[in-house]
Amino acid sequence: MEKNISLGGGYGLSGQMMLRPLMISDLIKHASSQFATTEIVSRRVEGDIHRYTYAECEFRARKVSQVLARLGLQLSDRIGTLAWNGYRHLELYYGISGSGLICHTINPRLFEDQIVFIINHAQDQVIFFDLSFLALVEKLQAVCPSVQYWVCMVDEDLIPISKIPNLLSYETLLSKESGDITWPVFDENLAAALCYTSGTTGNPKGALFSHRSTRLHAYVSALPDSFDMSASDTIMPVVPMFHVNAWGIPYSSPMVGAKLVLPGPQLDAPSLFELIQSEEVTMSLGVPTVWSNLLLHMSENDQSFTHFKKAVVGGSACPPKMMDSLNHLGVRVIHAWGMTELSPLGTFATLTGADLKKPISEQNRILQKQGRALFGIEMKIVNEDGLELVQDGVTFGNLMVKGSCVINNYFRVEESPLIDGWFPTGDVATIDAAGNMQITDRTKDVIKSGGEWISSIDIENIASAHPDLLAVACIAIAHPKWQERPLLVAVKKPNYIRSEQLLKEEIWQLFQGKMAKWCVPDEIIFIEEMPLTATGKIFKLKLRDLLKDFQF
Ligand code: AMP
Repeated sequence: MEKNISLGGGYGLSGQMMLRPLMISDLIKHASSQFATTEIVSRRVEGDIHRYTYAECEFRARKVSQVLARLGLQLSDRIGTLAWNGYRHLELYYGISGSGLICHTINPRLFEDQIVFIINHAQDQVIFFDLSFLALVEKLQAVCPSVQYWVCMVDEDLIPISKIPNLLSYETLLSKESGDITWPVFDENLAAALCYTSGTTGNPKGALFSHRSTRLHAYVSALPDSFDMSASDTIMPVVPMFHVNAWGIPYSSPMVGAKLVLPGPQLDAPSLFELIQSEEVTMSLGVPTVWSNLLLHMSENDQSFTHFKKAVVGGSACPPKMMDSLNHLGVRVIHAWGMTELSPLGTFATLTGADLKKPISEQNRILQKQGRALFGIEMKIVNEDGLELVQDGVTFGNLMVKGSCVINNYFRVEESPLIDGWFPTGDVATIDAAGNMQITDRTKDVIKSGGEWISSIDIENIASAHPDLLAVACIAIAHPKWQERPLLVAVKKPNYIRSEQLLKEEIWQLFQGKMAKWCVPDEIIFIEEMPLTATGKIFKLKLRDLLKDFQF
């Protein structure tokens, strides 16, 4: 039977396909039916390794849904999680969103007052937490009045004696449920998950993802020129499930049926390497600091991978040296750019058929950029007046994006961040004629010297090639004549014994022929440890604060 759709001015013919809203629960339902016996392996807070299957995960997620109903929670209530990457956290992702509630993942590495702000702003009704966050929760419970229940994710016999009111055991709650429900179907535009941005200035702001945006994001993120995921992969997200939903891996892995390895709280290089080898991990995802620590550990112990093939590097620029080192170990680097407000993926660096005919050095240059926009993302660069700039790979400007997985409004904030329908990313970038985007800097990190801009990332990429350096960061230091000049801050490898002056000279040598003289850092200083943000990136704000009295 033909059906017409009213389109304001007239009528159009409706397509005759089934109308099935894009539900998050479909992802785990699909994994449970098509990949029932594929494993999810988790390193637990309890210290042991837990393994079960997608079918068991879906069954327990249904029990979570029943628990939430029994606790009296309503549609769109916010349910907080303070948890590592693990199977119970995954059950919550589906149990909460699948019931029409909002899964609010909280980053436990934020400052305590930021966590309090976030819980109170979101008005979380329940917080599910891993045992390792007990001390934090004891402090939070006194200042987060919206929370009715605190659920510790262990068996009843491991529940500690505590002053937390309404403290419940996750396993006891689940044990009382049958799992006998069918997942509800509702409007795909309903909110499903909430993540607050780290917010280095001002209060954190919430990005509220819908079922629809999460499903669309899962589709495009898995494509061959994105994460390149398949049912034959074993995927270990090191990026935490409390940081933009671990780049969507908890949604895309069940969709493609990949085996999941969840590393829990043990994120040190030896533990990660051990898990990669023992579980035959083929692909893993993390910020550059994760990879630099792993590479250092492996070179110190003369180790190599047996099954590991793909390393996704994102969150900060991937230094060329890191790409080289991983390539030498037989690992392909997938460099991705994104941000919380984009769900989070925006671009991937990959090669086209035409690129494959270019010399290797040119191919590497393309792969070191942040890459082309994912399907569903539009990008442009603009100047300070908002005028669109030429895409010639040299001209840089403020990066603006739009798309169906891009934020429209922050949660419970009146004013929209959009400018003429575009989201200003706060990143400065170039885009070349082929569409490859390259981040030059965060707007606030770019070094403004004598009216010209110097990219701190370019400086870091060159300096990090020195084999005796563990980490580098370039920051702007106020200068009486030039307004700002670059200072390079570096951490030496632990076994470095030669003189610092010699090391400095060698680093300066690296810039020769690669960068205009006036862009080279005026000074290099060495520190013991690089300060990191709650999401594992170099904390430049803190570095600038530590070095605010520095003079050249
Ligand atoms: P977050 O919302 O915490 O994920 O942070 C997003 C920001 O991280 C972006 O706006 C960029 O400044 C930075 N970022 C993410 N990926 C990359 C990348 N591949 N290269 C450079 N910067 C990146």
